[in-house]
Amino acid sequence: MHKGFKVVIIGGGVIGAVTAYYLNQKGWRVTIIDKDRFGYGASHGNCGLIVPDHILPLNSTDNLIKGIGWVFKKDAPLLIKPRLDPALATWLMKFAFHCNQKDILVSAEGRAAIMQSAIDLYHALIIEESLDCGWEVKGALHIFKSRKDFENYGSADALKKHFGVSPTSLDRKLLLKQEPAVGDKVAGAWFSRHTAHLRPDNLMKELKRVLAQKGVKIIEQTEVTGFMAKNDQAVAAVAGQEHFSADQFVVATGAWAPLLNRALGCRLPIQPGKGYSVTMPRPQNSPSIPCFFQETGVVITPWESDIRLGGTMEFAGFDKSLNQVRLDALLHAAQGYLRDVKFAGIQDEWCGWRPMTCDGLPIIDRSPRLENVMIAAGHNMLGLTMAPGTGKLVSEILSGEAPHVDPYPYRVSRF
Ligand SMILES: Cc1cc2nc3c(=O)[nH]c(=O)nc-3n(C[C@H](O)[C@H](O)[C@H](O)COP(=O)(O)OP(=O)(O)OC[C@H]3O[C@@H](n4cnc5c(N)ncnc54)[C@H](O)[C@@H]3O)c2cc1C
Repeated sequence: MHKGFKVVIIGGGVIGAVTAYYLNQKGWRVTIIDKDRFGYGASHGNCGLIVPDHILPLNSTDNLIKGIGWVFKKDAPLLIKPRLDPALATWLMKFAFHCNQKDILVSAEGRAAIMQSAIDLYHALIIEESLDCGWEVKGALHIFKSRKDFENYGSADALKKHFGVSPTSLDRKLLLKQEPAVGDKVAGAWFSRHTAHLRPDNLMKELKRVLAQKGVKIIEQTEVTGFMAKNDQAVAAVAGQEHFSADQFVVATGAWAPLLNRALGCRLPIQPGKGYSVTMPRPQNSPSIPCFFQETGVVITPWESDIRLGGTMEFAGFDKSLNQVRLDALLHAAQGYLRDVKFAGIQDEWCGWRPMTCDGLPIIDRSPRLENVMIAAGHNMLGLTMAPGTGKLVSEILSGEAPHVDPYPYRVSRF
């Protein structure tokens, strides 16, 4: 019944793009509008990991204590720039409020559900559309220097087992045998076979090509500021003098989603969590699979000819500046775990904003004010992983089909 109906998707990141793909498959006429360039938000320079086993949210007393300890350390994995920002203060309070076993479990359930088919869905999409984006399913290593942290990571195993995503423990000797690029100072690692990786900037370029071929209209450099509405229905998305009419609308604006709060009729507790990445040619002695350097929050992703180091979390509003201390910290962190690796020939230094919710779950729900406007935002540190599940779910809801996952955990009214 929806065939030929129009949908306008606001935001051309991975969430908007994959949602467009599934809606187009179901016969919708799709337009994507982006305020900048398609694919150049957080979806551009991230680490490219599909990690459906990252079910635990950041919310934990342990992370709270670590965060407080890091406040005055300029190269710490987490930085909160001191400033008067009531929205950030409220967000931090809500984050702390969710640091309890019950809420962590609720979050883990919701995260696991939306990510459970990520690898299969990406595999199908990439093969079906011949997307050239360095797709590989080789697993990943979570490497520890501290024996205590290494063992503690294992204690979350029971919970992970419950979700069928249990990693394998490798002591130092086994780790050095499996990954000779790793240096001697490590205590051990956990190998997760449920991890795939791809090159996200290439994924976005390829999605743009495929969507355009399929007739999806992509409009760039156009910022949507609100909706023209009739009663509880939006009739058009408004961008300056331009009006884009449609039957349904999807707000997939990532970290910028709260800027549309008034139009949506709700307060989305999403903060921009700034992260950095550095991309360069793959050096000799590079690891062969993605590695998490656990104590530092830094990740290395190797592709055929390049590597990317990424990480750090900075709550500093929409501050676009590249902080050299934090970029250098990525390189130093990796060197501390690897043997004889020399990074050279940096091609790209980048920062982007993760859309961080206070409970680690995305928001996938209808606007409380406008019945035909769906929100699909707040995918935290896992938007690439959650994109196929989210896109599929939104396309099912808009098409009136039975959803493949229960959308309840992602409702707006939980805040
Ligand atoms: C350093 C780093 C590493 C990461 N690594 C991983 C990883 O390995 N795996 C993983 O799963 N996730 C990772 N992430 C998280 C992931 O990148 C994000 O969760 C994901 O990209 C969010 O996608 P999105 O489409 O919601 O947002 P974005 O990609 O930011 O897209 C939102 C788009 O909306 C547009 N927009 C905003 N407002 C408007 C408006 N009013 N009108 C029109 N357009 C608008 C923006 O221009 C932008 O293009 C990482 C993030 C960072 C920063």
